[in-house]
Amino acid sequence: MTTSLVKVENLHRSFGTVRAVDDVSFSMHSGEIIGFIGANGAGKTTTMRIIATLDTAERGTVLYRGKDTRDHQHEVRRIIGWMPDHFTPYNAMTTRDYLKFFARAYGFTGREQIMRVEEVADFTGVKSFMDMPARKVSKGMTQRLCLARMLLSDPEVLLLDEPAAGLDPAARLELKNLMRVLADEGKTILISSHILNELESFSDRLLFINQGKIIFSGNPSELRREIQGRSSFFLELAADTVTDQTAVIMLRLKEFLLCHGEIADVSIQAKSLTFECPAISDSEIAALLKLLINEGFPLLQFRRQEQQLENAFVEILARDTKRGEHEMV
Ligand code: ATP
Repeated sequence: MTTSLVKVENLHRSFGTVRAVDDVSFSMHSGEIIGFIGANGAGKTTTMRIIATLDTAERGTVLYRGKDTRDHQHEVRRIIGWMPDHFTPYNAMTTRDYLKFFARAYGFTGREQIMRVEEVADFTGVKSFMDMPARKVSKGMTQRLCLARMLLSDPEVLLLDEPAAGLDPAARLELKNLMRVLADEGKTILISSHILNELESFSDRLLFINQGKIIFSGNPSELRREIQGRSSFFLELAADTVTDQTAVIMLRLKEFLLCHGEIADVSIQAKSLTFECPAISDSEIAALLKLLINEGFPLLQFRRQEQQLENAFVEILARDTKRGEHEMV
């Protein structure tokens, strides 16, 4: 059985009337990458800042290896690295001086300091711009520098607040690879984003937060299971050009589909169409396809579409909003 490295228990934090964090509980296990997903203002940063001991919860606790982090702030700040979503390096310092400054703050001196700075610079790819003024480097480089600064103290837990925001696709991929290497080295990572697609491919577990509450916790396949039982289909007519006649056939096709079983959400785009259907077996799909052909619909394509995980997030969010409205009545 895996024991939790960090245990977040019933955290509450409000700002005036805003419940930024509302009874949040979850655990982080050694070497795990957790994707922390939520819309703007959902409560991600506040939760992470409390874990990093940079903010205090009104109620609830964060335990690191069973110890209350509030009672061990000094130790915790070395062990739990924090990468904020906004980061501006100091003026007029080169990247090297910037890292040396923080290495000194962590107690590294002399040769050990030089070695540590070189080591993190190497790992994060900062080495190529060590002599540049830290404020002059690009967004991607700034993110790497921030990561390098965080890694100086060799923290066991990494909290990264929207590190991919504003990065180009290549820099995102590099960041992803770095995260995987860090997790393989045994680091435990909580990484936030408001875009699920950014995190699902390399997260071991996903946590969804909405209006301060955790509304889903599970791995990507568990998330897929949440939306199983509903299939989405794509259908395309064989037509070289889209004419009035095509539009008529599409409307007839839509009506035909709506008369069959539990087909819903039929949406027409020129000569193609998508629809959704709850739990349908392969033989029922085959029967439907046969019916369409027998009816004389000129089909070029008919296929089941993979449900996007992003849809699952939207669905869970909608379910949670509905539940909230219900509770208010
Ligand atoms: P984003 O993706 O936009 O960074 P988030 O999920 O990180 O959002 P938080 O920054 O934790 O969300 O904010 C949660 C809620 O708390 C928001 O409504 C925000 O406006 C509010 N909030 C956060 N910090 C403060 C503060 N210092 N003073 C007042 N309200 C705050």
